Amino acid sequence: MHLMIVGAHCGDGELQAGAIAHKYAEAGYKVTFLHLTAGEKGAPPHLDTEVYRQQKIAEAEKAAAILGGMSITLSHRDAELEFTAELSKEVATIFRTEKPDFVITHWVNSMHPDHAICQKLVQDAWLKASLPGFELDGLPPHGIRRVFHSENWEDMEGYEPDIYVDVTESFDAYLEALSCYWFIMNSGSFRYYDYYKALGTTRGCLGRTQYAQTLQNSKGLHVRREGHIPGFQTT
Ligand SMILES: [Zn+2]
Repeated sequence: MHLMIVGAHCGDGELQAGAIAHKYAEAGYKVTFLHLTAGEKGAPPHLDTEVYRQQKIAEAEKAAAILGGMSITLSHRDAELEFTAELSKEVATIFRTEKPDFVITHWVNSMHPDHAICQKLVQDAWLKASLPGFELDGLPPHGIRRVFHSENWEDMEGYEPDIYVDVTESFDAYLEALSCYWFIMNSGSFRYYDYYKALGTTRGCLGRTQYAQTLQNSKGLHVRREGHIPGFQTT
């Protein structure tokens, strides 16, 4: 089984679902973090963006190793992601090559355009990868079983978690992985480490466990088609 986490920038996937990733890696799942861009535009003052891009790719590889996964960083530019057929085909090709069983990505709304475009690309590439009639370098079609959305402070408009995953056993590894990233530990614009450590605690309280990370299904996936109201039989 293969879990793939797709984020707009190096760091997003780890922040959102790093502890979930570690939990599944420990259980024997293959885990891959796919970053559409390095997220190089938030460079610290002493580095230019190209140097910072390389630094972030290295940070992503280190974080993925701690979480028991692999890291793939594409070469698209931070803050310039566009929803194009070409990029969707690139992601669909990765889906057909890597064959993830389930995927976690951003929620549908975000204050960061790259995040919203990322999840849209995942949804589109999910369809393209599965269609037998869609030609992609001769690769056979691949059906991802489910796509879930995870929690990011920039993507909270309309985000209401419906799955709380107990990540108590993975939380130390999660915090260690987060500490690999300069921006998580040193950003002057947002206290990433403090926020996500507290979020894991808060979600743990609500999930009735020590630490938790949450997911939300795509709209419509909880629809039930039955002959009666669930739990209230008429016959
Ligand atoms: Zn981001």
